[in-house]
Amino acid sequence: MMRSLFDLNIQNLKGVGEKRAKLFQKLGAPTVGALLRFYPRAYEDLSHPYAIKDAPLDVPCAVRATVIKPPKETRIRSGMTLYKATVTDGDSDMELTYFNNPYILDMLKEDEEYVFYGKVSANFLKRSMNSPEFIRSAVCPPVRPIYHQTQGLTSKLVANAVKNAFELLPDVMRDPIPEAIRMEYQLCQLRFALENIHFPKSMEDLETARKRLIFEELLILQLGLLRLKGRTRKESHLKLKRDCSDEFFSMLPFTPTNAQKRAVKEGISDMTSGYPMNRLIQGDVGSGKTAVAATLCFSVIKNGLQAALMAPTEILAQQHYASLSELLSGTGIRVALLTGSLPAAKKRAVLSELFSGEIQLIIGTHALLSEGVEFRRLGLVITDEQHRFGVAQRGALAAKGIDPHMLVMSATPIPRTLALMIYGDLDISVLDELPPGRQKIETYAISGDKRQRAFNFLRKHINAGRQCYIICPMIDEGQNDMASVTQYAEKLKNEWLVGCRIGVLHGRMKPKEKEAVMAEFSSGKLSVLVSTTVVEVGVDVPNAVIMMIENAERYGLSQLHQLRGRVGRGKDKSTCILVSDAENEEAVTRLKAMCQTSDGFQIADQDLKLRGPGNFFGQKQHGLPDLKIADMMKDMEVLRQAQAVARGIVAEDSELEAPEHRGLRAEVKQLFENMTD
Ligand code: ADP
Ligand code: MG
Repeated sequence: MMRSLFDLNIQNLKGVGEKRAKLFQKLGAPTVGALLRFYPRAYEDLSHPYAIKDAPLDVPCAVRATVIKPPKETRIRSGMTLYKATVTDGDSDMELTYFNNPYILDMLKEDEEYVFYGKVSANFLKRSMNSPEFIRSAVCPPVRPIYHQTQGLTSKLVANAVKNAFELLPDVMRDPIPEAIRMEYQLCQLRFALENIHFPKSMEDLETARKRLIFEELLILQLGLLRLKGRTRKESHLKLKRDCSDEFFSMLPFTPTNAQKRAVKEGISDMTSGYPMNRLIQGDVGSGKTAVAATLCFSVIKNGLQAALMAPTEILAQQHYASLSELLSGTGIRVALLTGSLPAAKKRAVLSELFSGEIQLIIGTHALLSEGVEFRRLGLVITDEQHRFGVAQRGALAAKGIDPHMLVMSATPIPRTLALMIYGDLDISVLDELPPGRQKIETYAISGDKRQRAFNFLRKHINAGRQCYIICPMIDEGQNDMASVTQYAEKLKNEWLVGCRIGVLHGRMKPKEKEAVMAEFSSGKLSVLVSTTVVEVGVDVPNAVIMMIENAERYGLSQLHQLRGRVGRGKDKSTCILVSDAENEEAVTRLKAMCQTSDGFQIADQDLKLRGPGNFFGQKQHGLPDLKIADMMKDMEVLRQAQAVARGIVAEDSELEAPEHRGLRAEVKQLFENMTD
């Protein structure tokens, strides 16, 4: 699309003044170009209007009929005014009713034929429609667009503005998708697509337009991801010569599962192939991703290279540091921790040993990205994602080396579709097997009035030397009745669990304080940890056997699953108690699903279905630009095609500089400019 037009302020359109321009801006269409990309949210199919007696009941549909009795006003008691009219299709009659809408008197004319759109209802005397929309038959389009609207800006006004925008378009538009690709995938031209996504000439044309625009959006997204990663398949100078995984396996206190062995093998085969590894390990909570990461680190380090692991939070970085130090103890490998809270002197020492190569594995938070962090020979970058890093940050750590191998660990099982989308060109290893001996975590949903019984249950386990988590949504007492961490802990101490040792953990505590509390809980000094969701990530205390979650309706399925994964990590049977008084159907469905399912992948799929991709990740946590028309779940096949095409284009022309790729480059820039990442 022409840049100049794209940037043209919406006020240049007929009928759009300053005030209305603000409303368009609110809808996300401040320019003419943005308006053309402001696709309808739905359509009314007016192409085959029904006869009155054939119209389906109680679903929106179009009916063609002529006015035989024009609207008449009737006042009813409640102060409302009704307008009733009668229409016929020559065979049967139908009554129309409008409420408080005097304009109807002028608009619906006797003997004129219209197409009405709305729901038809029937009793055994007659058929009728309440407040249907209508348009004169003679000028009725086959399909009518419905736009998102906002106070003061109706769908109709948006449609008019779009019509005016088309008048500004040149006849010939440059199409960002090269012709050869359009031919191969049978995609229509941009001009046709835009016209028919807004004002389709038929439902078939609408489909043709949608197909092209979805492809275009996904292609641009995939190109952007590939470019952000900046990692085309060029040869690696970090090719490993030796596979040391068997040596490491023999030192582990357990036998790796087959899934772990497979993932390690895949990673090793990447790193010995002569090309950089780009791999995602996906596995349910407790599937043993850390051991896989440790094995790969071991091999990399034994080949004379350094490895770095970045975690999204300080607690998680510490935890990884502890578990990796443990796994690698006895190997002679130097492991160090780098977080924001490290004292300056210690930090200097770490940095210098990292630079000299003495430190072979560094684990840290975002602090790893800061200036002054330099490696001697960085061979492997691991990020523990939880979707909290954007693609850009992952790239920033990789930039500390020269095209290091990359491993991404994802603890929330992501449906494969979405993994493809977010992780663009990563290869995927799935840990679809839990280490032996794990027991299913019994999960119960209870209402608040059963809380006392839950506490008796907790006390029984505490007396037996076990530990419990209780999750509350907020730190201090909020405006509403949501349980708060501090208040709740007081209640536990004074009323509910008198005599038990209770700790508090939340995100506003200083890192040192958090660390101290976690250490006390890990060592068993505390029996109960009352916490916000900061414990969600990775925390590993095998003696904790009960996870109780207050206001459970507040969380998505995947988050509940993460929280539940904090227990059941030892030999003992564990329990998850979801406390909620919510009655709305969606919440009830979600909690029920939690009680019935323990498979993380199944849960992630459900979560995505119930809440949509935006909420699935929490706001802006996926680090991807918003999509206008493509649907991650439904358009998986197109996503695959777009991915293949994007790879092909980048392999040939990684900077998108060829004349036929310039349009794409502009679109990629546009899409990713709006990213917050
Ligand atoms: P994840 O990060 O995938 O949630 P972890 O790597 O933290 O899982 O492993 C969870 C627990 O299981 C750890 O205590 C770890 O030592 C243990 N573990 C990992 N792999 C195995 C295995 N093959 N057999 C037995 N225990 C294992
Ligand atoms: Mg873990």
